[in-house]
Amino acid sequence: MTSNEIKQLDSQHVMQTYGRFDAAIEYGQGATLYSPEGKEYIDFTSGIGVNSIGYGNKKWVEAITAQAMKLQHISNLYYSEPYVKLAEQLSARTGMKNVFFSNAGGEANEGMIKLARKYSFDKYGNGRNTIISLIQSFHGRTITTLAATGQEVFHNYFFPFTEGFKHVAANDLSALEAELTSDVCAVMVELIQGEGGVLPLSEDYVNAVAKICKDKDILLLVDEIQTGVGRTGTLFAFQQYDILPDVVSFAKGIAGGLPMGGIMANEKCSGVLTPGTHATTFGGNPVSAAGALEVLNQLDEALLKEVVKKGEYIAKTIKSWNKSTVGEIRGKGLMIGVSLKGLAPKDIAAICAENGLLIITAGSDALRMLPPLTITYEEIDKGLAILKEII
Ligand code: PLP
Repeated sequence: MTSNEIKQLDSQHVMQTYGRFDAAIEYGQGATLYSPEGKEYIDFTSGIGVNSIGYGNKKWVEAITAQAMKLQHISNLYYSEPYVKLAEQLSARTGMKNVFFSNAGGEANEGMIKLARKYSFDKYGNGRNTIISLIQSFHGRTITTLAATGQEVFHNYFFPFTEGFKHVAANDLSALEAELTSDVCAVMVELIQGEGGVLPLSEDYVNAVAKICKDKDILLLVDEIQTGVGRTGTLFAFQQYDILPDVVSFAKGIAGGLPMGGIMANEKCSGVLTPGTHATTFGGNPVSAAGALEVLNQLDEALLKEVVKKGEYIAKTIKSWNKSTVGEIRGKGLMIGVSLKGLAPKDIAAICAENGLLIITAGSDALRMLPPLTITYEEIDKGLAILKEII
């Protein structure tokens, strides 16, 4: 099909819930994508942080193909090898105790919220179920994760939202302390708020929140759906802080482009979800798990170091550009927000797409880069040259 034929069918038969860019993609190689007409795009998005080891990654393709030929799905009522190996790897590389697999991020956060409330219910009885999350956070699109999300723009239309969420300003310890009433069971944070604008939490704040949570037996829930799986230069971003969260959610990049998410619990929370309390048909799917094992295999220390170096290279390059249009550069590793001055990020991203660069926005003021972690310097340079020209 041509790009125009694809767009026409989309407009006729697909619910128009996305503000799509004017680009149709047929295939990719490395961090470069191609339209059906052969137009080339440098990919600074990786499908919003999903295609962590790029396109056409031979070993990943071999791993998922071999698994698909053996067993594509088996109910969670039965055991199979890929998900247990994956859970073992995740525990070994994070210090967390065990894992529940879901299919995507919002669903992972639902599980994290359920776990937190059940932990408190089991220990303290009914009524201690409020979760504090941060203003400018984003936690998903289900009714409950929209309620958890600390942005008023998401609290529309779908009333009634799930009760039991309070939002406080990020990086403001006294604002959090003021809301720590006896009904609070958990604090839920993104260490770098992705959708909200690539806004990092300070180390002091995170360490202080972790300490308060520990002292009061309030669970620290860390949403690593965007920051996880190597994106910030360590396997999970929390590993750059002096903390071990009670529960961590992940999704996006874990399976290299196949649907998968999940939560990891520490020792204290590892036995909270018991038979019958949580489940999902596709969770831990063998093909996704085989893909995820290959992602983890490739995300070794050398690649993680490269993520840090490439992130620094991008930031340094952009810092040398015209200061009248480019403001703050935020984030860690290959999760980068570039705030713009006097330019609308959405318009710039649309012009970039027309000119062969896929880049997205974050919050109201920033462009956001989440390229495949395997992007080459040549691809980075090509992408940055397009961006520089446009802004
Ligand atoms: N949490 C965070 C931090 C995210 O960035 C996202 C997606 O952008 C989600 C949750 C929701 O994930 P999903 O779209 O896979 O449901």
